Amino acid sequence: MINNETKLIGLIGHPVAHSKSPQMHNTMFDNLDLNYKYFAFDVQQNQLEQAIEGVKALNISGLNVTIPHKVNVMTYLDEISDEARAIGAVNTIVNLDGKLIGYNTDGQGYVRSLIEETGINIEGKKIIILGAGGAARAISYTLSKQLIAELIIANRNLEKAKQLQHILEQNVSTNVISYDEIKSYIEEVDIVVNTTSIGMHPRIDQSPINKERINSNHLISDIIYNPLETKLIKDAIQQGAQVHTGLGMFIYQAVIAFEKWTGVSPNPKVMRQSVL
Ligand code: NAP
Repeated sequence: MINNETKLIGLIGHPVAHSKSPQMHNTMFDNLDLNYKYFAFDVQQNQLEQAIEGVKALNISGLNVTIPHKVNVMTYLDEISDEARAIGAVNTIVNLDGKLIGYNTDGQGYVRSLIEETGINIEGKKIIILGAGGAARAISYTLSKQLIAELIIANRNLEKAKQLQHILEQNVSTNVISYDEIKSYIEEVDIVVNTTSIGMHPRIDQSPINKERINSNHLISDIIYNPLETKLIKDAIQQGAQVHTGLGMFIYQAVIAFEKWTGVSPNPKVMRQSVL
């Protein structure tokens, strides 16, 4: 039911028509009997500033931010969390009495999903992260704040990987390698995280790692969720490795955003079900 007390949450991005976020959050608001509604707003790049002014003027309670606004939106906010600043992008905004505060829940969402869905204790683990783009920045920054042993970044563009290393090296021991070098390191790592788009629809027959290099001591994590099970994940299952699939990160980044807007913890299983 919508009434004068209903609080509004929005998603801004371009395009947003296919986003699952409205369905996921509205299901949870109803499920918990919270008087909130979530709408998707298609905002063009040149209208971002007006959109953010509108959030204040209309007293919208919070936002999710998606492509292409995650970086540019930072210019228009009153406060940005240390984590979002280090990652260089905002995906969640809270309107606190007219003050807009930006957060990034992707990295925390990933780590919470990894731990809760696999039961792994990541303390002391050696982790190789494939890719150095936006998702890799968020995930590796949050991982670097945990008590992991080492983070190895493998990327096609080595300069980009070194820029990421520069942000992380004050928190954790890091190393940058090329794709050719993966074979020399993969045996000794515990967790492999794919943050590249290799294997994403429509090129679902591709994988960033040769199947033979995966063994049963590995935990193979792929953040791609289209398809829900990538070739990398299928290969890992066949090799006897533990696996972690990409939908979890999407669900848990939403769980954390939901907590920030409402102060209430939603049930990740209900959110997952609403998306599936
Ligand atoms: P991005 O910023 O564009 O970064 C893409 C990364 O993939 C870069 O490191 C790029 O390497 C690498 N890459 C792309 N094609 C490659 C190829 N053919 N060979 C080697 N490396 C390649 O993208 P992003 O936002 O980080 O997203 C990356 C993936 O994560 C996408 O598939 C996206 O759907 C998924 N994702 C999932 C979630 C979730 O909630 N589960 C959230 C965000 C993103 P270079 O730097 O060398 O170009």
